[in-house]
Amino acid sequence: MPEPKQKRAMSQPAQIAGRCLCGAVRFEIDAPPFWAWHDHTRATRMAHGAAYATYVGSWCKRFRVTDGADHITRYEDREANTVRSFCKRCGTPIAYERARSPHMINIPRALFASRTGRQPLYHVGIDEVQEWIYTGEALRPLKGFPGVVWERPRRKKAKEFPFA
Ligand SMILES: [Zn+2]
Repeated sequence: MPEPKQKRAMSQPAQIAGRCLCGAVRFEIDAPPFWAWHDHTRATRMAHGAAYATYVGSWCKRFRVTDGADHITRYEDREANTVRSFCKRCGTPIAYERARSPHMINIPRALFASRTGRQPLYHVGIDEVQEWIYTGEALRPLKGFPGVVWERPRRKKAKEFPFA
């Protein structure tokens, strides 16, 4: 569970602000959040359209929507007993609440531009991790496609490519 109390860095503000892609929804949490974690479960993958999502978990009472509350819509996933909020203009996931943790709200880490004061050290649903995620393999530029890098397919025999 969460790491022991950390000393707040001098540069750490009292509040951390976040926003959706279009900027209609803005919010803040009191720093530091409770914890940060990677969620590999299917529902989160589908809701984000991504391999996994990284969340910052905060006490609900430390979370405030500062602008655009009327742009937030909610989806109740009755099967999973969760509620997901997102911006109805741009679709950005804003918050994820689980019935089993009624006092906590989970916010996608990506929505905060600044540091949050918590490293995402924890994983939920690690047994569902997708084999196609990027895990830091060596990358090289793709000829003719500026801005695109690629991972060479794994070789069976390294000696076949002595000039690599
Ligand atoms: Zn938006």
